[in-house]
Amino acid sequence: MTSTRRPAARKQRGRLGYLLLGRPPKKPRQDHHYRCGVCRTSYGPAPSREAARAIRDWHRGDRHGGGAPDGEKIISPPPPDPFDWLRGYQPAFVRCAVALGVVLVLFLTFAQR
Ligand SMILES: [Zn+2]
Repeated sequence: MTSTRRPAARKQRGRLGYLLLGRPPKKPRQDHHYRCGVCRTSYGPAPSREAARAIRDWHRGDRHGGGAPDGEKIISPPPPDPFDWLRGYQPAFVRCAVALGVVLVLFLTFAQR
């Protein structure tokens, strides 16, 4: 039995947008974690750096009497690559290049006569 449901990516961009732009790029996970160097315990994922700081403050108060344990850190995802949005348009560039090539071949074929 085949499913008649359209893929989520096609539904998200619409038929023309999906045809021109292709599948939207996957967004990397933006989870933050807190790791205590003394307890060797990790907490998270937290949706934001501020939420990870709140977990850190709670852990400091609850387990270490408010002091900052050695080696603690908040692990954040790497900053986004500024060229990531360009990679999302790569299918459109390829389709435009193919269409331009076809037009060029047709033009050169019929321009010689
Ligand atoms: Zn700890």
